[in-house]
Amino acid sequence: MSTVTTARVSETPVAEADLGLALVAAFEGAHHERRMAGRAAFPAEGMLRDPLLGLSEARAWTLHRLDELVAAGFGQSIVAVEQATADTQIQSLIDFETIAYGDLSVAIKSGVQHGLFGGAIAGLGTPAHHQRFLADALSLRVLGCFAMTERGHGSDVASLETTISYDPDAGEFVVHSPHESSAKTYIGNAAAHGQMATVFGQLVVDGVERGVHCILVPLRDADGNPLPGVTLGDNGHKGGLLGVDNGTIAFDHVRVPRDMLLDRFGSVDAQGRYVSSIENPNRRFFTMLGALVRGRICIGGGAAISARRALSIAVRYAERRTQFRHPNSDDESPLLDYLAHQRKLLPAIARAYALGFAQNELIDSYGTVSSAADHDPRAQRALETLAAGLKVLNTDFANAAIQTCREACGGAGYMSENQLTQLRADTDVFATFEGDNTVLLQLVAKGVLTDYRDVWGGLGRLGLVQASARMVGSAVIERTGAGLLAERLAGTARRKGDSAAFYDRGWHAWMFEERERHSVDSLARRMRAADRDSFEQVNAMQDHVLFVARAHMERVVLDSFIAGIEACPDGAARQTLEELCTLFALTSLESDAGWFLAHNRMSDTRAKALRRQINQVCADLRPRAVALVEGFGVPAEWLGAAMLDA
Ligand SMILES: Cc1cc2nc3c(=O)[nH]c(=O)nc-3n(C[C@H](O)[C@H](O)[C@H](O)COP(=O)(O)OP(=O)(O)OC[C@H]3O[C@@H](n4cnc5c(N)ncnc54)[C@H](O)[C@@H]3O)c2cc1C
Repeated sequence: MSTVTTARVSETPVAEADLGLALVAAFEGAHHERRMAGRAAFPAEGMLRDPLLGLSEARAWTLHRLDELVAAGFGQSIVAVEQATADTQIQSLIDFETIAYGDLSVAIKSGVQHGLFGGAIAGLGTPAHHQRFLADALSLRVLGCFAMTERGHGSDVASLETTISYDPDAGEFVVHSPHESSAKTYIGNAAAHGQMATVFGQLVVDGVERGVHCILVPLRDADGNPLPGVTLGDNGHKGGLLGVDNGTIAFDHVRVPRDMLLDRFGSVDAQGRYVSSIENPNRRFFTMLGALVRGRICIGGGAAISARRALSIAVRYAERRTQFRHPNSDDESPLLDYLAHQRKLLPAIARAYALGFAQNELIDSYGTVSSAADHDPRAQRALETLAAGLKVLNTDFANAAIQTCREACGGAGYMSENQLTQLRADTDVFATFEGDNTVLLQLVAKGVLTDYRDVWGGLGRLGLVQASARMVGSAVIERTGAGLLAERLAGTARRKGDSAAFYDRGWHAWMFEERERHSVDSLARRMRAADRDSFEQVNAMQDHVLFVARAHMERVVLDSFIAGIEACPDGAARQTLEELCTLFALTSLESDAGWFLAHNRMSDTRAKALRRQINQVCADLRPRAVALVEGFGVPAEWLGAAMLDA
């Protein structure tokens, strides 16, 4: 296998279908067969919802469709921690991706039922809970909610107000919403279908607050009526995901037996004493949240599928739709022949590939870390940082790309029968739930700075000086498997300096590394100088914090792309991936050209020439545009866009 550098244009013409197939195999990498099996098992008939359905019809349709998916075996891959293997963990992620090829309300309802309700039982409960509740949750015999968010607190989960107080005389917990702001809201399955909920609140034992814990609370009786002390409401019509019944839940001193507490990380024993293997309450809180990381990975993965669906539609349309006569012929030009159209769609395709390779690595990492016999806090933190960062990149990208695709299809793109408006509406909120994107980026930056401190903090003063001199440019960037090749390429390019070619992968890796290293270094310096207790001083760095998080994630994504190409056999697919990677890298650099100029990392001439280079790669890739979207693996017959049938 040859080493990654980048020849600019593919020399060998290949049949488009063959190229598409080869690209799917390369793009899906180690999970290709599993994904193909998922697609083969997916009951595709009636997979898209009629947009004319009203709220209650949409909810009924979604529940019915979820039943069909469960009958086909979907949702069954969530397993209790004690049974988790890398295989089961990975399968649960691929299942969600597969469901996301269809209606997104169904995907999110499955996410709530299987991933969140089932996932909380599996991840926060003990074997007794698993035996008693998990099978019913996965089979839909008991429909459930994941009740974390409250009116008063969404992103700030540690400040939830719901109380879970232990009554030692009765041996029961009392679940209560003390204020209006402590009512749970936006909760999936709460408005109509949920019979039980995993409820998050402050555990109080013997008058002492023990921090946020999770307890199972029944909500409705067999006839669907709220149980005593439970008040349920309906959030009503939403901006999308109409098939999911989001609602509110408030508790008025609702009593549940002691064994309903999901107490893997903290429990109350028969004598009414609080016991936990994790002493530090802060660490306990983050360990509990860490056990729920799968949801975040799924949302990023689902958003990626939505973007691929939209791009698959828009590219196929742009290939057949013509506008304006070509000056040298009687024919009209297909939209895709216009540079402006290529600039809309091809960089987005390149980014979709880049994010897909990174998501593959995240999936692997989740499989390994979440099934490991011994808990490795460092690996867990790396997983959580990657999951948060890719959730943000995937969902931000999906929202932007779907809107671009909608506009790229003109008026047709705005017709519901062509799916793009539905996709846009349904994917929108992916930027908010499972962690608001801005808040998640702060988490990513925190993870990056913690690594930075680990590397530098361990060195004495002399060691620090020596290390600075020795490791210029790479000190803060810790690379593992996927990043090693990129690191090597960057090192070579650094020696060549500004003379490196635009399509030299080493130059890309070097520039991405510079953007990250410089911004992390300067942020760490500012943080050290600031008074951490001063809101104003810390707040003044927020834009810098977000820049660091994005710079870090862009570099991680490029590393994954480079490693993904390296794993692809030589041939047309590999050559095409090289070009896509160049396009991804150049557009990322172009979007931060101001930063590179201001920090003397790129000359004026080079920054100006970026645009020309990007145009050239777009022109080179244009003839293969349909094969590129075939490479996403979305079956054409599942796209459901009426304009493509005409
Ligand atoms: C359709 C839908 C379904 C949902 N399903 C569920 C569910 O099933 N279960 C559940 O528990 N929850 C659910 N949620 C809730 C969801 O997880 C929260 O909406 C989300 O966590 C954000 O919380 P919030 O709405 O309170 O926003 P806020 O936290 O109030 O954020 C609002 C804005 O303020 C910004 N912001 C907040 N804090 C900071 C800060 N420190 N620095 C800078 N900016 C900040 C954010 O970036 C955001 O732009 C759902 C939400 C929706 C819309």
